[in-house]
Amino acid sequence: MHTYDHWIAGRHETGRSARTQDVFDPAEGVAARQVRLADEQDVDTAVAAAREAFSSWSQASLTTRSRVMFAFRELLVRHEDELATVISSEHGKTLDDARGEVVRGREVVEFACGIPHLLKGEYNDQVSGGVDSHSFRQPLGVVAGITPFNFPIMVPLWMHPVAIACGNTFVLKPSERVPGASDLVARLYQEAGLPDGVFNVVHGDKVAVDALLDHEHVDAVSFVGSTPIARYVHDRAIGNGKRVQALGGAKNHAVVMPDADLDFAADHLVASGYGSAGQRCMAISAVVAVGPAADALVDKLRDRTLDVRVGPGLDPEAEMGPLVTAAARDRVVSYVEQGEAAGAKVVVDGRDHTVPGHENGFFVGPTLIDHVTTEMSVYTDEIFGPVLSVLRVDSLDEALALINANPYGNGTAVFTSSGEVARRFQRDVQVGMIGINVPIPVPMAYHSFGGWKDSMFGDHHVHGPEGVRFYTRAKVVTQRWPHVSEESLAALNFPTAR
Ligand code: NAD
Repeated sequence: MHTYDHWIAGRHETGRSARTQDVFDPAEGVAARQVRLADEQDVDTAVAAAREAFSSWSQASLTTRSRVMFAFRELLVRHEDELATVISSEHGKTLDDARGEVVRGREVVEFACGIPHLLKGEYNDQVSGGVDSHSFRQPLGVVAGITPFNFPIMVPLWMHPVAIACGNTFVLKPSERVPGASDLVARLYQEAGLPDGVFNVVHGDKVAVDALLDHEHVDAVSFVGSTPIARYVHDRAIGNGKRVQALGGAKNHAVVMPDADLDFAADHLVASGYGSAGQRCMAISAVVAVGPAADALVDKLRDRTLDVRVGPGLDPEAEMGPLVTAAARDRVVSYVEQGEAAGAKVVVDGRDHTVPGHENGFFVGPTLIDHVTTEMSVYTDEIFGPVLSVLRVDSLDEALALINANPYGNGTAVFTSSGEVARRFQRDVQVGMIGINVPIPVPMAYHSFGGWKDSMFGDHHVHGPEGVRFYTRAKVVTQRWPHVSEESLAALNFPTAR
């Protein structure tokens, strides 16, 4: 059975720790590979490699950095199928879905190719008589990225291309459930000409994460994962004096107004709720049906939910794959049971779904629950599975109040044909990423991604312009080349423009 090693200073390392963990094939329900779990010393070795590489990489010209990104981008294109296959076999998502995540991640590399333009500073001539001022940004040092299982390549790509193009070096701690994509990415960076030590991968669990958060030579931490861990990572890294951005979990609502095209809305809600088996931080999990159209909407959702083809991710006919682990499957089933016991109506029940020939796979069928209320656990908790809950309200005001009372604020959408509703919604909803008739409003790479409230801790969203700001710090220079005269003589009062 293959065991994934760490990648440190341009080569595979077994490390010192003897701990390993199984990596499952979720469609078959079997352990297919293993991954090493780093200890503090293994993390220290990776950070030391990154720190050593920083002294030269931070001096590499913008042209060099940009060219490495162009080459890396070409390799991601060439290896798209290989990457998608690894992702699908460890995560369970369909091949097409995995290809989609490779493409969306690659777009961040395309953004990073423009680093010379992104790092242009600002200049003021003559801020005072004979004095000019300019600002520019420099890299931070060693950056750590800690990522979740649900996007094995895209979420790390939100981070490292921008960090590296800005002149930092990087230590990635990917999810121990899906280590394969990061291993391939490390080798592609090397082939693209990235110097050894600039990009490193340590596999591991809480031990490795804590070692990164406490390491004196880690300068910044980018985290994406569940809210409790995001809060913990943020607080611990801040306590250790590091810059940190920590993106957490979500409960994403889609409001369906009575004036919406209900067929269009139902199509998109089913795609958004069940794609990747609901394991997307931007998946819609709560449908807020406004007014009298609710019954018709639920009928349309039911018909489409029953049509979703469930199967192994590598089966080209499958539209939805399994959950990532047996524990994730059992958790989803238990939430549906709790919802039913609390009085919700299970319209389409995926609890006993089996896929012939794959009986041990971690499958749950797409599940539709109606008459959900805000105190039910099926609503209050992030389920992270293929479950769409329908809540019913009477007005847009009520829908907005419901969303704004939820502690999460990652993504949301409204389906409407009214510009007035759309404008009101985007201005009044307390959520970071908003779709108007767009159910999964994941920003393009040249905008930045991030939620509000318990979906994000820290000040800078990821990638796009905010990513560049997060991975750099600013300097402002005020300079004068004096012709010595009466006017340029120093005075003890606070300097003001002359
Ligand atoms: P997770 O929080 O369990 O794990 C994320 C990372 O944290 C992993 O690398 C893991 O090894 C590490 N980790 C886990 N437990 C830890 C602990 N006790 N101490 C220190 N580190 C720990 O998340 P997951 O299950 O891998 O991913 C799913 C979650 O991620 C969902 O909540 C989803 O909403 C969220 N997510 C959010 C976004 C976003 O952009 N906001 C994007 C993708 C996923």
